[in-house]
Amino acid sequence: MRFARFFCSRFSPFKMAKYNLVFVLGPPGSGKGTQCSKIVENFGYVHLSAGDLLRAERNNPGSQYGEMIEDYIKNGLIVPVEITCKLLERAMKDSGKMSFLIDGFPRNEDNLQGWNKQCGEKVNLHFVLFFDCSLETCTERILARGAAGSGRVDDNKESLKKRFDTYMNSTMPIISHYESLGLVRKLDASRSPDEIFKDVKELFSKIN
Ligand code: UDP
Ligand code: MG
Repeated sequence: MRFARFFCSRFSPFKMAKYNLVFVLGPPGSGKGTQCSKIVENFGYVHLSAGDLLRAERNNPGSQYGEMIEDYIKNGLIVPVEITCKLLERAMKDSGKMSFLIDGFPRNEDNLQGWNKQCGEKVNLHFVLFFDCSLETCTERILARGAAGSGRVDDNKESLKKRFDTYMNSTMPIISHYESLGLVRKLDASRSPDEIFKDVKELFSKIN
């Protein structure tokens, strides 16, 4: 029985199909969500924002993690991977689809290790889309978004500073890791959404 399972997982022609995946990373305010919406419209991917999934879980009155998530988000800290991974996996399964943009994840070493362990075997990672943007430009965008009523508890100067610190210290090393694997596609995200999308489109047209 054990042999049969081993044999099937390694050699069976009926092996489970893998999910197609693109990770989308970049500093807060670099336009990850904006570009993901455009990719969904044009290429039929399902957009999963780790941040949005965590906010939904926080708002779910039945969740045992609500308060904890609120605390992490306000302080720009990264929620333990077991929670985020579970939410992502559930969302992928529930969608019934096979191609996903995972936006804002993996953000630190804990995320990377947890993801590889829990989901690495089930996915085919095409590349990591990296929106490169100065923190000054990102700050302007986020404070404008906050002032316009984004309703996010972390779109304020104090939380933003913490989010940037986390980005520089914890997320940049993850981008470097994928860079060393030749998987990063870096775009200048200080431009207008339409200009950026021209480059994005080219990258996605090349995926078979
Ligand atoms: N977050 C997290 N793990 C993730 C993604 C998000 O803990 O995988 C938390 C983290 O506190 C982050 C916040 O959710 O600062 C908002 O993330 P989101 O991607 O929505 O916003 P961004 O900072 O990229 O604009
Ligand atoms: Mg976002």
